[in-house]
Amino acid sequence: MARTRFTGSFTQQPPIPEEGIAAALAVMRSGRLHRYNVAAGEESETMALEREYASWQGSRYCIAVASGGQAMQIALRAAGVLPRDAVLTNGFTLAPVPGAIAAVGGRPILVEITQDLVIDLDDLAVKARQTGARHLLLSHMRGHQCDMDRLVRLAADLNLAVIEDCAHTMGATWNGRRSGAFGVAGCFSTQTYKHLNSGEGGLLTSDDAEFIARATILSGSYMLYERHGAGADKETFVDIRLDNPNMSARMDNLRAALLRPQLRHIENSIAAWNERHDYLALRLAVCPSIRMPTRPHAERYVGSSIQFLVPGIAPSDARGFIERLAAVGVELRWFGAAQPVGFTSDHRSWRYAGAQSLPRTDAILSDLFDMRLPLTFSLEDCALLAEHILDSVSVLASKCGA
Ligand SMILES: *Cc1c(COP(=O)(O)O)cnc(C)c1O
Repeated sequence: MARTRFTGSFTQQPPIPEEGIAAALAVMRSGRLHRYNVAAGEESETMALEREYASWQGSRYCIAVASGGQAMQIALRAAGVLPRDAVLTNGFTLAPVPGAIAAVGGRPILVEITQDLVIDLDDLAVKARQTGARHLLLSHMRGHQCDMDRLVRLAADLNLAVIEDCAHTMGATWNGRRSGAFGVAGCFSTQTYKHLNSGEGGLLTSDDAEFIARATILSGSYMLYERHGAGADKETFVDIRLDNPNMSARMDNLRAALLRPQLRHIENSIAAWNERHDYLALRLAVCPSIRMPTRPHAERYVGSSIQFLVPGIAPSDARGFIERLAAVGVELRWFGAAQPVGFTSDHRSWRYAGAQSLPRTDAILSDLFDMRLPLTFSLEDCALLAEHILDSVSVLASKCGA
């Protein structure tokens, strides 16, 4: 059946809200772009963002940094990772995650994932014991959360400090508790393709005063750590300010100005993402060749992208599937490709981490397809996307037509 070509752009985010543009103009007119460049009595945009983000996230502390990757690097170091230390992380995640471990001199130890795309807690326990790792950089890849109750118990048993990579779970919860609140720290990204958009940027949250004080000095605060919106008390810094290097990874006032109005409207964005995601998930789930990852009741997710599996699909069929869709304007990513494409890479492309055997993860990735859902797509767009995907699957399996 010939259908209309899909003409939406998978990389087009909505514009910055007018309030954000006005606030950014005001920062530029002031000339005070550096976060510590404040007039007498002034609260900078960056300080205000930290205060507002901590309050929204429900964390005691928050620091704004240059990227999500920097938030993770700083968090690992502030949590005590030393060169050559083993650091556990998901076998399925994005390149900045093992990259952050390598940046602090750690050794990424990749843990298998399950059919539901989350870390395999049994393999986590095995590898924690085998390697003696003391840290887990838990990546909520594509917004899928593992059983967080079990994870917290397991981490306590294994004596593992948990740092959460919340690049895809800003705004998500588990049993009502915000993602990022389950371990030592939560790391968030405000890069263009995440849930808030300042081009580049990151936020690091914690309830631990000494941890955040170390992170503040590491982020490049010089001796200006009192100019923070949700930072630790001055007394906490007495030794910490002398014991930690400056790694210059600050956010600036221009980016913070763009972010504050977006944070005020994030619940609307989440509702809009989930409307699109859930519509598509329902349409795709009826096809017997497609398996949707199970979403536990305890989880509230943010459907800024959608994933599905075509169990047992042969590599040549998977290539044909994405090529047919590309020909009608639908950009689907396949995690089973031998070579990394664009933002998509897998553990076989992280040679610096050393070859690791992840047979179960590899089998899942070869069945796994992924699609971005920017908020510039309408529900009608999603209907057309579903029809194209179902058409293309039916060629494969001749099992389900749209
Ligand atoms: C984007 C991303 C990050 C960090 O992103 P930055 O580009 O460094 O801000 C971390 N983890 C995952 C899974 C990501 O997709």
